[in-house]
Amino acid sequence: MTAPIVVVGAGQAAASFISRHVALGCEQPILLIGEEPHPPYQRPPLSKKYLLGQLERERLFIRPLQWYQEQNIELRLDTRVGAIDRERRQVVTANGESIDYDKLLLCTGSSARALPAEIGGDLRGVFSVRSIADIDRMSPEFQAGRKLLIIGGGYIGLEAAAAARQLGLEVTLLEMANRILQRVAAAATSDYFRDLHTKHGVTLHESARMSRLLDDDGTVCGAELESGEIIKADLVLVGIGSNPNTELAQAAGLDCDNGIRVSETCQTSDPNIYAAGDCSNFVRNGQQIRLESVQNAADQGDLVARVLAGETVTYTALPWFWSDQYDCKLQIVGLNHGHNQTVIRPGSKDNSLSVWYYRDHQLLAIDAMNEPKSYAFGRKIIEAGKNPTQQEVADPATDLKALAMG
Ligand SMILES: Cc1cc2nc3c(=O)[nH]c(=O)nc-3n(C[C@H](O)[C@H](O)[C@H](O)COP(=O)(O)OP(=O)(O)OC[C@H]3O[C@@H](n4cnc5c(N)ncnc54)[C@H](O)[C@@H]3O)c2cc1C
Repeated sequence: MTAPIVVVGAGQAAASFISRHVALGCEQPILLIGEEPHPPYQRPPLSKKYLLGQLERERLFIRPLQWYQEQNIELRLDTRVGAIDRERRQVVTANGESIDYDKLLLCTGSSARALPAEIGGDLRGVFSVRSIADIDRMSPEFQAGRKLLIIGGGYIGLEAAAAARQLGLEVTLLEMANRILQRVAAAATSDYFRDLHTKHGVTLHESARMSRLLDDDGTVCGAELESGEIIKADLVLVGIGSNPNTELAQAAGLDCDNGIRVSETCQTSDPNIYAAGDCSNFVRNGQQIRLESVQNAADQGDLVARVLAGETVTYTALPWFWSDQYDCKLQIVGLNHGHNQTVIRPGSKDNSLSVWYYRDHQLLAIDAMNEPKSYAFGRKIIEAGKNPTQQEVADPATDLKALAMG
């Protein structure tokens, strides 16, 4: 009997792989091994509706547990894979069980970066936002009137700030770069979100380096900045990015460099092992990149199922991403890496706007804030490889639909 395809990591990429495998009618058995106690679930609502208490846990699940049974997909939850034996084509679970695989798919995701214990990262009341368990631990502390300090002004920190304000907490956010979202967006997008959060009562400190968290008998009670300023807090949320989970792959000798290196078919340096999602590092337009997004995880998982079913396909999907904060829906299409010009296109409403990124007059990406049409038509424009001039884009009278369809 053929050994199963073993999938390690029960997240977004794994769910997408399995859905496509089932849809293609593939008969080869699948064994999904995940260290969390849940079937694959969506993480985006964790810092949004789930944190706000507006979504039940089961609604996060990409498919109900029963679906896997119906499809004869074997699930081993609460089980961590500790090693890969490439010679024997086996994975070894943390409790020592060896399991044969025919092909192995690593969907191990990424982990939230933690603050070092030496500066208070292990104090009670310090939280990160990566899993259902993280939110379940943190939610009871999210009470109106309490002081929340958020370290890091990326999307997760900002989304958590929005949820916390909606729940009535006093929120201070520290960003060590000179502006929030500096790593991922142009100044115009940062300005938009700074305004939005300031209007909603968040106290933002940019260019603010924290030197340590303050300790009150083992519980966090604030932070000291390098400037000497003290900020009081009842709880702290750390949103300082994440690292790809590559330990397994590295220990097995697979090529890794900021993620598990994969080819355009998501194959690793071992032809029997594939990797998809946050943990994979791939080449796009000649650049080595790693993405943390639902789109990338879902599209790569889907691709691996097609490849294993014998299709000749390569990974060329156009990246997209979104974020929800208060009444703002941000939609991003494309990748702005290497841009050297940005154009602001005024929106159709007070709180709407889009930012278009160019490299040497080549359109790369768009951030659309409450601008679903700019996003939708902009996406078509990028997909078609069209290149509207910056003057056209900046002019609100320009008909984007005509540009996209023309
Ligand atoms: C709070 C939050 C908000 C987000 N919001 C957005 C958003 O708005 N839009 C967007 O596009 N993206 C968003 N993302 C990113 C998106 O959720 C991830 O990119 C996506 O989940 C990645 O999917 P994945 O399958 O690669 O990894 P994951 O979904 O993280 O799954 C990986 C799984 O592997 C398990 N695992 C790891 N190692 C082992 C092992 N050795 N043995 C067994 N199991 C293992 C992990 O525990 C985890 O369950 C958000 C992420 C977070 C955390």
